[in-house]
Amino acid sequence: MKAVIVTVGTELLFGQTVDTNAVYLSQRLQLLGIDVMYRHTVGDNPARLRRILELSYDDCDLVICTGGLGPTQDDLTKEVVCEALGDVLIRHEETVEELNAFFKKLERPMTENNLRQAMLPSKALVFANHHGSAPGFVLENDGRTAICLPGPPREMKPMFEESAAPYLKTRSNATIYYRLIRTFGIGESMLETKISDLIDAQTDPTLATYAKEGECSIRIASKRNTMEEAKQAVADMLSVLRERIGEYIFSDDDEELAAVAVKKLIEGGISISCAESCTGGMFAQRLTDIPGVSAVFDRGFVTYSNNAKIEQLGVSPDTIEKYGAVSEETAREMVRGVKSVSGSRLAIAATGIAGPEGGTDEKPVGLVYIAGALDDREVCKRILLRGGSRGRIRVHAVLNMLFMVLKLIGEPASGNASRA
Ligand code: ATP
Ligand code: MG
Repeated sequence: MKAVIVTVGTELLFGQTVDTNAVYLSQRLQLLGIDVMYRHTVGDNPARLRRILELSYDDCDLVICTGGLGPTQDDLTKEVVCEALGDVLIRHEETVEELNAFFKKLERPMTENNLRQAMLPSKALVFANHHGSAPGFVLENDGRTAICLPGPPREMKPMFEESAAPYLKTRSNATIYYRLIRTFGIGESMLETKISDLIDAQTDPTLATYAKEGECSIRIASKRNTMEEAKQAVADMLSVLRERIGEYIFSDDDEELAAVAVKKLIEGGISISCAESCTGGMFAQRLTDIPGVSAVFDRGFVTYSNNAKIEQLGVSPDTIEKYGAVSEETAREMVRGVKSVSGSRLAIAATGIAGPEGGTDEKPVGLVYIAGALDDREVCKRILLRGGSRGRIRVHAVLNMLFMVLKLIGEPASGNASRA
């Protein structure tokens, strides 16, 4: 089934109200296996709404409208939709009773214009409104279907779930299932190259990549007759992706890197502490954003100055003198310091140049060393984010620290100590 979403309301065009209904319906229709071809927003204007409806039925069979069902003069959706589908409005007695009961419960008198809400297309299947007064409905005529739902999201969503979705399920024989796979440490173009044959050959499941700050997501979607078939098709494709790019995948269920890191730490019963220079505590913040982290997080040091690194972490002044504060040697000494002071099994340290000042040819802005240690295994990684702002460099460093936590936990204890 091909659908159009039409959200009605001048306040939407003015930008006074954010059109959350359209997003909600898009997501829900996709999961029901209904293809959304267009989304339109139109003001409280019958002529323009009429035009949009005519346009929509040119190449779609379902139009879902929200808004404009209420009792006031500017609420015109019902009249226009009814006319477009060749029906007439009649008084719906059941709705009159429901309106009476609704106002009685509110202990408010029902004004005459409220009865407008009980005027409904004669052939409509009426959707009761359990969270407000205006009912919705579905109307079918000659291959054209219209569903009208109220504008307020707190009325629209339950009505969609209680009435519209069950109706649509009887009309659609396809189900869509999708998973969002999240990767880190591989750019979008490299990712696409590694899976380009799969993308080129895709029919079902389909693959789509999205780049996000430092990360890349892949959506695997399958549209089948049953949910089991769709889930199986997505699982099969996921195994192929794991073979190709498994080392970069940190979640197959749209989880944040920090959440996955904390989950793994808790599962493994692994305590963690950190020392941060250029990230100034952001790593500790990301970790402590996750509820339950107290089971594993011991402490974080913000050792910004050389002195702090020497005093709190026991970094040797000679090391800083000889190699500089931003160096592999200093990062490694920082991580050893955190580990011995805290006694945590896992430690992470970062030192870098976030800029905009302070870069040199040899050590440019964006250079960060990240050292990590789990038990007696230690790794150090050099990352360089060229052309990044101070903010992006710091975020990028934190994501790399979190990914290092996952790598340390994931790799076997016999791993090469110097490998990054
Ligand atoms: P009511 O009985 O409240 O008049 P209605 O079906 O006539 O319901 P509208 O008058 O169009 O709906 O909108 C009522 C309110 O619902 C708007 O002021 C707005 O706050 C919210 N609303 C309407 N459409 C949307 C939308 N597409 N997304 C989010 N909110 C919306
Ligand atoms: Mg209204």
